[in-house]
Order: sequence, then C-alpha cells, then structure tokens
Amino acid sequence: MALPPDLAGDVPAYLKTTVKPLAVIDGGARRQDSVANAFAHVASRADIVVIHDAARPLVSADLIRRTLDAAVEYGAAIAAQPATDTVKRGNADGVIIGTLPRDEIFLAQTPQAFRVGILRDALALARGMVEATDEAALAERAGHRVHLVAGDAQNVKITTAEDLALAEQLVGSPAQRDPGATMLRVGTGYDLHRLVDGRPLRLGGVEIPFDKGLAGHSDADAVCHAVTDAILGGAGAGDIGRHFPDSEAAWKDADSLVLLARATDIVRAAGFSVVNIDVVVVAERPKLVPYIDVMRASLAGALGVAIDRVSVKGKTNEGMDSTGAGASIAVHAVALLARA
Ligand code: MG
Repeated sequence: MALPPDLAGDVPAYLKTTVKPLAVIDGGARRQDSVANAFAHVASRADIVVIHDAARPLVSADLIRRTLDAAVEYGAAIAAQPATDTVKRGNADGVIIGTLPRDEIFLAQTPQAFRVGILRDALALARGMVEATDEAALAERAGHRVHLVAGDAQNVKITTAEDLALAEQLVGSPAQRDPGATMLRVGTGYDLHRLVDGRPLRLGGVEIPFDKGLAGHSDADAVCHAVTDAILGGAGAGDIGRHFPDSEAAWKDADSLVLLARATDIVRAAGFSVVNIDVVVVAERPKLVPYIDVMRASLAGALGVAIDRVSVKGKTNEGMDSTGAGASIAVHAVALLARA
C-alpha cells in the first residue's frame, strides 16, 4: 500500500492488524509515482497486478475477481460504469459545445488490473509525463488494449463529506452495523473481605459504627471494590487489581472511594459513561438500612452521576457460611454503561 510519506512513516494502527500481508510504501508526488513505487515491490513471480484506490472502500470481492479475470484474458482491464446522464462538452464560458454519444462514455473506477509487462510499459511511459488520472490511460498511450468490466454503482469514490454520508447510507453507519459496539454495556463486580477486630468499617465510602471492620491492604471498602470492578468490567478495561495493585505502596490504606473515582475516569477515557449501578451488600451485621442513602450519595459522587442512578441493598445470609456467621461481608455489584 502506497501512503503519503508522513503516514507511511507512522502507519495507522488499523493497517498493522491486517489478515493479509501488507507492505507500506512511501507514495510519490503523483498517482503514477505512488503506483510506480508500489510496483517496484511487487514479487517477481507475479503475473497480474491489481491497482485499487483506497478512496473506494466499498469495492466488492466480485468486482475485483471480474476485473482480475478480464486482465488474465485480455492483458489489461478496468472497472467502469456506463454513463447514465447525457454527457455535454462545455467551454470556459459555460456554454455547451457538443453532446457526446452516451453509449460510448464510461466512467473509470478501480480496480484496474494488468499483466505485469503491460503495467511496466505503462509506468515507463509515465516517468516524464504529465499526471495521468489512471493507469489505464498510461496503458492506452503505451499502445495496449484495455478492456472495460462492468463496475459497481456502490463502488463510490469518497472524497467529500457528502460522499462519506452517501457511503454510510450504502453500508449503514457504525452504529447500525454493530449496535452493541456503540450503545450499552453491562459489567459485574464481586468482593468479600474478612471482618476483624480493630479496623473501622467502611462501606461505599461511609464509615459505619461497628465493633469490627474489614481486613485488607487498602481501607478494604468491599462496596467500592465491587462497584469499581463492575464499571471497569463493563468498559472491558480490566479490574481493580490491574489498575491499583495491592503490591504497590501507593494503594496501602488508599481511600477506595478515590480509587472508584479514578476508575470512573478510566471508564470515561474508554468512551463510556455510567448509566446506573445496583449493589447488594451481604452482611449479617450491622444493620445497613440507616446508612443506605448516605452510601448511595457517596457512590454517586465518585461516579459523577445523580443519586437516583445508584442503588444499594442490604441482605443477610440467613446465618449460612462465613458471611452468615458474621466473619465476612460480601458485595455484588452490576453496572450499566453507555458509550458516550
Ligand atoms: Mg476488595
């Protein structure tokens, strides 16, 4: 692929992940110079070279194959559309000086395909020449017969904003092609910490009076941790351990509400906003009802959303397992994100 030299030196990411082998070549000043630069890299065993203008991204595999087949048969072939409008010649004063026979008029597209020898002749002719608007013109001047292959009305050349809008109508906008990529995402988070003596109990950034607290490297706020994992998960942005590893001293005794706010920034940077979150806190004791709305307000502040987007519910575990026995508190959270 020939690109303008500044782009060829800094190849866009989407060109680095192509399935087929792709060599990026510095383009030249004129179209034929770019083609000649790329042609110099064509494998010596090649029989046919197909040239395509990247400004025509809607080309079909069928049109490429038909153009290729015609080049194999005739030596040189291009995709072209028969003119459907009546074609006039005009002068510089905007006055018609003739009407061309429409059935002889074809509008050249790409792909344009050539046997290697024919393209070599054409490009040799191009060296000293003024700009040719396509390779077929060069092949014609070099004395070769170039065949016409019925082009495709969808194979539009995109050079203006109007062309781009037309192309989006033809193939659908990104949102229409993949609604899931542009709308809603869901994420889930879970956390459990042991309840121990001698620690304050913090849940959702709120200190709750109790004779025990949660054990952990940070403030062990299991509500903030579960919500952080839920929003990061929804954005496909990893988890709390990746962004705030407890191996790093910076996060020792960290305020988990601050980590949640930072995770919200990560989610925003990934292109998402938080629609709502719903949290279930499983704790045998203490009773959480008096603190629910304070937790909601605190979480809403860190997430940058209105309090009605945040739900916190308390549950007990009916005396079962470690949480039911009062030895731990577990938290489940789900987050809905929208692409901003
Ligand atoms: Mg945790």
